[in-house]
Amino acid sequence: MNDLEKLKEEALLELKQVKTKEELQEVKSKYLGKKGVISSLLKKIREIPPEERKEFGRKVNEVKSALEDALRRREEELKRSELEEKLSKEWVDLTFPLQRTAGKLHPITLTLERIVEIFRGMGFQVEKGPEVELEDYNFDKLNIPPDHPARDMQDTFYVNREGHLLRTHTSPVQIRTMLKQKPPIQIIAPGKVYRRDDDPTHSPMFHQVEGLVVNEYANFRHMKFVIEEFLREFFQTDLPVRFRTSYFPFTEPSAEVDIGCVICGQEGCRVCKGTGWLEVMGCGMVHPAVLENCGVDTEFYQGFAFGMGVERLAMLLYGIDNIKLFYENDIRFINQF
Ligand SMILES: [Zn+2]
Repeated sequence: MNDLEKLKEEALLELKQVKTKEELQEVKSKYLGKKGVISSLLKKIREIPPEERKEFGRKVNEVKSALEDALRRREEELKRSELEEKLSKEWVDLTFPLQRTAGKLHPITLTLERIVEIFRGMGFQVEKGPEVELEDYNFDKLNIPPDHPARDMQDTFYVNREGHLLRTHTSPVQIRTMLKQKPPIQIIAPGKVYRRDDDPTHSPMFHQVEGLVVNEYANFRHMKFVIEEFLREFFQTDLPVRFRTSYFPFTEPSAEVDIGCVICGQEGCRVCKGTGWLEVMGCGMVHPAVLENCGVDTEFYQGFAFGMGVERLAMLLYGIDNIKLFYENDIRFINQF
């Protein structure tokens, strides 16, 4: 019994000397943990003569609850002093003269503004849509059938099982625009999109700009002209541009657009993998099924659409080789633009 009293005093003294949460945790597990002093004492109860057991048990439990109380109090005290220390460190002198250093726009914002400005100059209007999108607008109405690999859980962030997801491209803005507005339509849709991708050239969140033109005479040559004009304006040079046959469910025919490598001037480098060409966007004539899904009369109207990755264009424009730099918010990086 005397030993128990001594144990209690020792433990309380140890607690008093505790300075950090970690130390507190140590004392806690030493005495009250599963393999702590108190539980091993309770296990020993069988070795005590029967007539003393009751008293022994009562005393151990008394020590235990005294320790628990003391621990709680000490924890509160530590929290309070931690807060006080934090407050005293984070003190702000409101009379300190303000240094007026102007903020800077993020390179992605700059690139987005540059893209939007060029298309505005060509008569495009800016449309926006929600980032949490309906599966119907993100896939079905864009002629992407339920068994299409793009719908895989591996690629798409689903919000719930009721058909809500984080949009994987800005293309649902095409759908929203055609559903609410009769042709002629000439829009671009800049915004954030989400995919389950993460490596030096892919980020799970990135930016796209989508373009859509629907009217009575839209054709492939018209689209080619718009894209070439845009790219030369964007890179401020008379770049070689080529269109390569491709496939997208929502356009037919479809093409990938390549530009002559802006890094090496088509000599061949690491960025263009020695080919002299860089892929910068996808495009095509809007698939008639997509127009019909949105109630556009394909007897009278046709359209073309294109989509580009903003990070990709910003990396090429500014010569940045790791997409992660855009999201680290390192002021030394951002200040360079
Ligand atoms: Zn190159």
